[in-house]
Amino acid sequence: MKDLIDALAADRTLPRDELIFLLKNHENEGLLEYLRYISDSVRRTYYSNKIFIRGLIEFSNYCRCGCRYCGINACNKNVLRYRLGKEEILASCRTGYGLGFRTFVLQGGEDVVMDKEMPDIVASIKENYPDCAVTLSLGERSRDYYQELFDAGADRFLLRHETADKEHYVKLHPKGQTLENRIRCLYDLKDIGYQVGSGFMVGSPYQTLENLADDLIFLKELGPHMIGIGPFIPHHDTEFANYPAGSLKLTLFLLGMLRLMHPNALLPSTTALATLSEQGRSLGIQMGANVIMPNLSPDNASTNYQLYDNKLITGSEAAKNLESLKKKMNEIGFEIVTDRGDTKHL
Ligand code: SF4
Repeated sequence: MKDLIDALAADRTLPRDELIFLLKNHENEGLLEYLRYISDSVRRTYYSNKIFIRGLIEFSNYCRCGCRYCGINACNKNVLRYRLGKEEILASCRTGYGLGFRTFVLQGGEDVVMDKEMPDIVASIKENYPDCAVTLSLGERSRDYYQELFDAGADRFLLRHETADKEHYVKLHPKGQTLENRIRCLYDLKDIGYQVGSGFMVGSPYQTLENLADDLIFLKELGPHMIGIGPFIPHHDTEFANYPAGSLKLTLFLLGMLRLMHPNALLPSTTALATLSEQGRSLGIQMGANVIMPNLSPDNASTNYQLYDNKLITGSEAAKNLESLKKKMNEIGFEIVTDRGDTKHL
């Protein structure tokens, strides 16, 4: 099976049946160890031992969507909803800049009330911090609106496709939310000129290994700059409350495969991975991830931005504790850098 890992590293892709075969063997410790060794060396070719940090600002937990897996979906009446104002967002950027962040990620639900203000917020961040990148993660919108945000100065956009299988997509989302529109958004964003990020949950309800192979194939076709994957973790107020969380091993295995398929991509070791396991963050980095997104949101905001249960918001997850995160990364041989952290091309 190691020859398949070698082939994936050399060709950056494999036929679908071979991807599935590898995924079926994700619990094989020897194979996982070999994948870790190869994916780490591929990452070092492009990014050395550098880890990029992004300051996450969760600007609103209002959302018009009903994604069945998400704790802040529109149907959940138990959420204490909030929106940050422009000044609060700029204050978070100010704090983050002082700490060394050179990318700000503005993430929120699909909150159309903030749409009018958002281009001005983006422009103000770029005016105050011209050496920083602004990443947006605010869901599905019209091409014209994406263009307006890009013209205001936004550099990057994160929009996970979640699953590339139409039938699986329908099981995770209510009527009216379609895979077609999600994909339309991703290609519009690319076409406009954003650095685009996509990705999926590992272990979401009804997901099969075949679905995951199709996710890998879809991402290969899309060619995103950033790829975010993390384990599914249930939220108690959703209809998937009693479904099991995704597997740590499978998530790590997929991270390694993605590093081989996208050698120069920016891959976060996600908060969901850190929530699933105390060692999750470090294991993700050792598996080829090279981005961490500590939380810069005001405390009361991150407390109410719960996409899944027990989301970590303290310790190394909080931007203010950056020094402890740096120390943790140093202990495993990596270095956090003050840099916009754009995609490297060799
Ligand atoms: S996953 Fe995103 S779009 Fe879906 S309900 Fe949650 S915040 Fe809204």
